[in-house]
Amino acid sequence: MRQKIVAGNWKMNTSIASGLELAQAVKTGLEGKSLNDVKLILAPPFTHLHAIGEVIKDSPLGLAAQNTASEKSGAYTGEVSAEMLASAGVGYVILGHSERRKYYHENDELLVQKLTRVLEAGLTPIFCIGEELEDREKGNHFALVKSQLKNGLFHCSPEDFAKVIIAYEPVWAIGTGLTASPEQAEEMHAFIREELSAAFGAENANACSILYGGSCKASNARELFAQPNVDGGLIGGASLQADEFIRIAESF
Ligand code: PEP
Repeated sequence: MRQKIVAGNWKMNTSIASGLELAQAVKTGLEGKSLNDVKLILAPPFTHLHAIGEVIKDSPLGLAAQNTASEKSGAYTGEVSAEMLASAGVGYVILGHSERRKYYHENDELLVQKLTRVLEAGLTPIFCIGEELEDREKGNHFALVKSQLKNGLFHCSPEDFAKVIIAYEPVWAIGTGLTASPEQAEEMHAFIREELSAAFGAENANACSILYGGSCKASNARELFAQPNVDGGLIGGASLQADEFIRIAESF
């Protein structure tokens, strides 16, 4: 059985005070609920991580960072290393989100370095891939996703790969309200799993959680999560409301 996961990417939203309130509301909202073995993860901004880690430490919630440095330590002003994140109580790191790839020019090579740092620190990467609308319109979406997988992940040993969570996030669906249809999501997730199977073997591929991201909300999560190769969601906007976020997790 693959781990089902719903992770909330808060992006650059909330103050520490309102972030703590949101984390507390998610924690309280989950009390007494049985979520069919779904792992819920919160990914607040760096500044909030330690304080939110303290709030959720006795709960089933996981804590993720939205990014990390490509270097281990040293003279890299403004960067936050994977070891620092581990020491702040973080368990997961989102890598390669399309906003990082697009606005901060993160390329495959840099992401390989970041992935290495995350794994060295004993953290779990949530590795994001996905095509732009233009790629899909030109029929290049499978080739593009395949190249992101190959350049970003295929160098991993099977042992390291076993620690990776993948998030398929079509860029045209992120923050736009344009969700991929369940069929589009399933088609790509099945393709990703086939590629993983060719690279790491069927057993490893079948054990890998592949999340869907892109305007996923409580009203469409059920159909998306019902697809055989969709193991959960990476949720942006809809994770900023505790009730909505919990309802998404209840959609399995
Ligand atoms: C995201 O940023 O990972 C995301 C999926 O955003 P949204 O849900 O807002 O489209």
